Amino acid sequence: MEKEKIRVLIAKPGLDGHDRGALVIAQALRDEGMEVIYTGLRQTPAQIVSSAIQEDVDCIGLSSLSGAHNELFPEVIRLLKEQGADDILVVGGGVIPESDIPYLEEQGVAKIFTPGTSTKETADFIREQVKKKKLNRIEAPRQIDHIGIAVRSIEESLPLYRDVLGLKVQGYDTVPSEKVKVAFIEIGETRIELLEPTDPESAIARYIEKNGEGIHHIAFQVTDIEGHLDHVKQKQVRLIHEQPKPGAHDSLIAFLHPKSTGGVLMELCQPKTPEQNGGREHE
Ligand code: ZN
Repeated sequence: MEKEKIRVLIAKPGLDGHDRGALVIAQALRDEGMEVIYTGLRQTPAQIVSSAIQEDVDCIGLSSLSGAHNELFPEVIRLLKEQGADDILVVGGGVIPESDIPYLEEQGVAKIFTPGTSTKETADFIREQVKKKKLNRIEAPRQIDHIGIAVRSIEESLPLYRDVLGLKVQGYDTVPSEKVKVAFIEIGETRIELLEPTDPESAIARYIEKNGEGIHHIAFQVTDIEGHLDHVKQKQVRLIHEQPKPGAHDSLIAFLHPKSTGGVLMELCQPKTPEQNGGREHE
C-alpha cells in the first residue's frame, strides 16, 4: 500500500557545527504536511544512507555549510545506488556556490536549493519528484506463472510428468500465433507447460533443432504487463516483443531478449483476469 505522507530525512553530513538552517527547513516541510526525520549533526554518508533506508523515506535533504558538499553529496548517492535504494530522491541545500551546482546535479542530486528558495517551492519540487518516482516503480512479479519445456511430442513426454512424477494435467491448448501446442501440468500455484511445435518453422521447432528438447523459458506472472515492458525498456533490457501479444488461455505475454538476460529466455505473462474469465479456469 502506498504511504500517504511523504517521508523526508533531513541530514547534515560532514563537520558543520550548527544546524539552525536544517531545523528551519525540517519544520517548514512538516508544515507542508510531510513527515520529517532529522539525523542531527555530523553524520557520515553511510549513516545517512542507513537511516534513510531504515526509515523508509522518499527523499533525503542534505544540508551542508562546511564546503565539503562536492565529496559528501555524491558519496551519499553512490551508497544509495550500492544498496539498491537509488529510488530515494536526493536534494541539497546550505551554503553551496552556484558554480558547484551543475557538478552536483550531474552526480545525481535532483536539485540544489539556494538560500533564496521559498519552502513552498522546495516542498512542491519534492512532492512532484516523489510522485514521478512512485509512478516509475513497478510491482514485482507475483510468482513463476509457468516453466516452458520444449518437446518434440506431448504424447511421448506426458507419461513422465503424469505417471512417473504423478502430476495432474490441467488441459491442452494451441497457440496459432506461436505455432505451438501446449499441455498444462499443474504443480502447486504454478505450471509446467509442454510446448510441441505444430510447424517446423515455429520458434520452438527451431529451438529443438538447435538445442534438443529441454527447458525453454521461465514465465513471470505480472499484473500490469505494459507497465513492466516500459520499465524493462527503461532499464535498457532488449525485448523480443515490444507489445504484449496473446498467449495460451487468453493471457498476454511478451518475451525479453535472452541476450539481455544471461541466456535465460524470460517471459512476462499476465493471466486473463477472473472477471474476463467468469471464474476459475480449471476446475
Ligand atoms: Zn510461456
